[in-house]
Amino acid sequence: MDIEQAKQAVGKELRVYGGASKKVNRYIGKFYACQIKNERILAKVKGNHGEYTVSFKLDGRRVDFNCSCYIGKHGCHHCVALAHTFLKNSESFEIVNETKRSGVKNLEQLGNYLDYVTLGDLMDELKSVGISQKEFAEAIGTTSAHITSVKSSEARNRFYKGLGAFKLACLWMIENAKKINKNVKKVKK
Ligand SMILES: [Zn+2]
Repeated sequence: MDIEQAKQAVGKELRVYGGASKKVNRYIGKFYACQIKNERILAKVKGNHGEYTVSFKLDGRRVDFNCSCYIGKHGCHHCVALAHTFLKNSESFEIVNETKRSGVKNLEQLGNYLDYVTLGDLMDELKSVGISQKEFAEAIGTTSAHITSVKSSEARNRFYKGLGAFKLACLWMIENAKKINKNVKKVKK
Protein backbone atom coordinates (compact mmCIF):
# COMPACT_ATOMS: atom_id res chain seq x y z
CA MET A 1 0.00 0.00 0.00
CA ASP A 2 1.21 3.47 -0.91
CA ILE A 3 1.01 5.35 2.39
CA GLU A 4 1.11 8.82 0.84
CA GLN A 5 -1.71 7.90 -1.52
CA ALA A 6 -3.72 6.52 1.40
CA LYS A 7 -3.16 9.73 3.35
CA GLN A 8 -4.34 11.86 0.43
CA ALA A 9 -7.50 9.81 -0.05
CA VAL A 10 -8.27 9.84 3.67
CA GLY A 11 -7.61 13.57 3.95
CA LYS A 12 -10.04 14.22 1.12
CA GLU A 13 -12.66 12.02 2.77
CA LEU A 14 -12.25 13.84 6.11
CA ARG A 15 -12.75 17.24 4.51
CA VAL A 16 -16.22 16.03 3.53
CA TYR A 17 -16.94 15.20 7.19
CA GLY A 18 -15.79 18.63 8.37
CA GLY A 19 -14.03 19.05 11.73
CA ALA A 20 -13.83 16.25 14.25
CA SER A 21 -16.80 16.21 16.63
CA LYS A 22 -16.48 15.64 20.38
CA LYS A 23 -17.61 12.06 19.80
CA VAL A 24 -14.74 11.55 17.33
CA ASN A 25 -12.14 13.51 19.29
CA ARG A 26 -12.21 11.23 22.30
CA TYR A 27 -10.88 8.36 20.18
CA ILE A 28 -8.17 10.17 18.19
CA GLY A 29 -4.76 8.86 19.27
CA LYS A 30 -6.35 6.17 21.47
CA PHE A 31 -5.82 3.33 19.01
CA TYR A 32 -3.51 0.39 19.64
CA ALA A 33 -2.30 -2.63 17.63
CA CYS A 34 -2.08 -0.24 14.66
CA GLN A 35 -1.18 -2.13 11.51
CA ILE A 36 -1.03 -1.90 7.75
CA LYS A 37 -1.90 -5.39 6.61
CA ASN A 38 -3.09 -6.93 3.35
CA GLU A 39 -3.95 -3.52 1.80
CA ARG A 40 -5.83 -2.44 4.93
CA ILE A 41 -5.09 0.01 7.69
CA LEU A 42 -6.43 -1.35 10.93
CA ALA A 43 -6.30 -0.80 14.66
CA LYS A 44 -8.16 -1.52 17.87
CA VAL A 45 -9.84 0.88 20.24
CA LYS A 46 -11.76 0.59 23.51
CA GLY A 47 -15.32 1.74 22.93
CA ASN A 48 -18.45 1.94 25.07
CA HIS A 49 -19.15 -1.75 24.69
CA GLY A 50 -15.71 -3.32 24.66
CA GLU A 51 -12.96 -3.49 22.10
CA TYR A 52 -13.60 -2.63 18.47
CA THR A 53 -11.50 -3.41 15.41
CA VAL A 54 -11.56 -0.47 13.03
CA SER A 55 -10.16 -0.44 9.51
CA PHE A 56 -10.15 1.17 6.11
CA LYS A 57 -8.82 0.42 2.69
CA LEU A 58 -8.67 2.27 -0.59
CA ASP A 59 -11.35 1.25 -3.03
CA GLY A 60 -10.36 3.05 -6.21
CA ARG A 61 -10.54 6.71 -5.23
CA ARG A 62 -12.93 5.99 -2.39
CA VAL A 63 -12.08 4.93 1.13
CA ASP A 64 -13.94 1.91 2.45
CA PHE A 65 -14.32 2.12 6.24
CA ASN A 66 -15.37 -0.69 8.56
CA CYS A 67 -15.74 -1.08 12.29
CA SER A 68 -16.90 -4.01 14.38
CA CYS A 69 -19.21 -1.79 16.46
CA TYR A 70 -22.96 -2.06 15.87
CA ILE A 71 -23.08 0.96 13.53
CA GLY A 72 -19.72 0.42 11.88
CA LYS A 73 -20.71 -0.99 8.51
CA HIS A 74 -19.19 1.50 6.03
CA GLY A 75 -18.24 3.98 8.72
CA CYS A 76 -18.83 5.35 12.20
CA HIS A 77 -17.18 7.81 14.63
CA HIS A 78 -14.44 5.22 15.38
CA CYS A 79 -13.63 5.11 11.66
CA VAL A 80 -13.37 8.89 11.44
CA ALA A 81 -11.12 8.88 14.52
CA LEU A 82 -8.91 6.19 12.97
CA ALA A 83 -8.59 8.30 9.81
CA HIS A 84 -7.50 11.31 11.89
CA THR A 85 -5.06 9.15 13.87
CA PHE A 86 -3.55 7.75 10.69
CA LEU A 87 -3.13 11.23 9.17
CA LYS A 88 -1.48 12.57 12.32
CA ASN A 89 0.73 9.61 13.05
CA SER A 90 1.04 7.12 10.20
CA GLU A 91 4.53 6.13 11.43
CA SER A 92 2.95 4.41 14.45
CA PHE A 93 1.31 1.87 12.12
CA GLU A 94 3.36 -1.28 11.82
CA ILE A 95 3.64 -2.65 8.29
CA VAL A 96 2.84 -6.37 8.46
CA ASN A 97 4.57 -8.17 5.61
CA GLU A 98 2.66 -10.72 3.65
CA THR A 99 2.92 -14.23 5.03
CA LYS A 100 3.43 -16.44 2.01
CA ARG A 101 1.66 -19.78 1.92
CA SER A 102 4.73 -21.45 0.43
CA GLY A 103 6.81 -20.16 3.36
CA VAL A 104 4.72 -21.86 6.06
CA LYS A 105 6.93 -24.35 7.90
CA ASN A 106 5.39 -24.58 11.35
CA LEU A 107 2.07 -24.10 13.11
CA GLU A 108 2.88 -20.57 14.22
CA GLN A 109 3.54 -19.54 10.62
CA LEU A 110 0.34 -21.32 9.58
CA GLY A 111 -1.53 -19.21 12.14
CA ASN A 112 0.08 -16.06 10.77
CA TYR A 113 -0.85 -17.02 7.24
CA LEU A 114 -4.48 -17.79 8.16
CA ASP A 115 -4.61 -14.45 9.97
CA TYR A 116 -3.19 -12.60 6.99
CA VAL A 117 -5.23 -14.05 4.13
CA THR A 118 -8.98 -13.39 4.04
CA LEU A 119 -11.65 -15.99 3.32
CA GLY A 120 -12.75 -13.73 0.46
CA ASP A 121 -9.25 -13.95 -1.10
CA LEU A 122 -9.24 -17.75 -0.75
CA MET A 123 -12.74 -18.18 -2.18
CA ASP A 124 -11.68 -16.10 -5.21
CA GLU A 125 -8.66 -18.35 -5.65
CA LEU A 126 -10.85 -21.44 -5.32
CA LYS A 127 -13.14 -20.11 -8.03
CA SER A 128 -10.15 -19.56 -10.31
CA VAL A 129 -9.27 -23.26 -10.05
CA GLY A 130 -12.81 -24.26 -10.98
CA ILE A 131 -14.65 -24.80 -7.69
CA SER A 132 -17.56 -22.50 -6.87
CA GLN A 133 -18.52 -21.24 -3.42
CA LYS A 134 -21.71 -23.29 -3.65
CA GLU A 135 -19.77 -26.49 -4.37
CA PHE A 136 -17.36 -25.71 -1.54
CA ALA A 137 -20.21 -25.06 0.90
CA GLU A 138 -22.03 -28.26 -0.02
CA ALA A 139 -18.87 -30.34 0.34
CA ILE A 140 -18.31 -29.17 3.90
CA GLY A 141 -21.95 -29.38 4.93
CA THR A 142 -22.93 -25.75 5.00
CA THR A 143 -24.60 -23.26 2.67
CA SER A 144 -23.25 -20.68 0.27
CA ALA A 145 -25.26 -18.04 2.16
CA HIS A 146 -23.43 -18.95 5.35
CA ILE A 147 -20.04 -18.65 3.63
CA THR A 148 -21.09 -15.24 2.30
CA SER A 149 -22.03 -14.15 5.81
CA VAL A 150 -18.70 -15.40 7.24
CA LYS A 151 -16.85 -13.49 4.49
CA SER A 152 -18.73 -10.26 5.06
CA SER A 153 -18.29 -10.56 8.83
CA GLU A 154 -14.54 -10.78 8.32
CA ALA A 155 -14.65 -7.73 6.04
CA ARG A 156 -16.45 -5.95 8.91
CA ASN A 157 -13.78 -7.01 11.41
CA ARG A 158 -16.12 -9.44 13.12
CA PHE A 159 -14.26 -12.71 13.19
CA TYR A 160 -16.43 -15.79 13.09
CA LYS A 161 -15.39 -18.57 15.44
CA GLY A 162 -13.90 -21.26 13.25
CA LEU A 163 -12.96 -18.80 10.50
CA GLY A 164 -9.50 -20.43 10.36
CA ALA A 165 -11.11 -23.83 9.79
CA PHE A 166 -13.06 -22.50 6.80
CA LYS A 167 -9.83 -21.07 5.41
CA LEU A 168 -8.04 -24.39 5.89
CA ALA A 169 -10.84 -26.31 4.19
CA CYS A 170 -10.66 -23.88 1.31
CA LEU A 171 -6.87 -24.30 1.11
CA TRP A 172 -7.22 -28.06 0.93
CA MET A 173 -9.62 -27.73 -2.00
CA ILE A 174 -7.34 -25.26 -3.79
CA GLU A 175 -4.39 -27.64 -3.40
CA ASN A 176 -6.42 -30.64 -4.52
CA ALA A 177 -8.60 -28.98 -7.16
CA LYS A 178 -7.02 -30.89 -10.04
CA LYS A 179 -7.66 -34.25 -8.41
CA ILE A 180 -11.20 -33.27 -7.46
CA ASN A 181 -12.05 -32.03 -10.96
CA LYS A 182 -10.70 -35.24 -12.52
CA ASN A 183 -12.89 -37.32 -10.23
CA VAL A 184 -15.95 -35.34 -11.30
CA LYS A 185 -15.18 -36.18 -14.94
CA LYS A 186 -14.79 -39.87 -14.10
CA VAL A 187 -18.22 -39.86 -12.46
CA LYS A 188 -19.77 -38.30 -15.56
CA LYS A 189 -18.44 -41.16 -17.72
ZN1 LIG B 1 -17.39 1.92 15.27
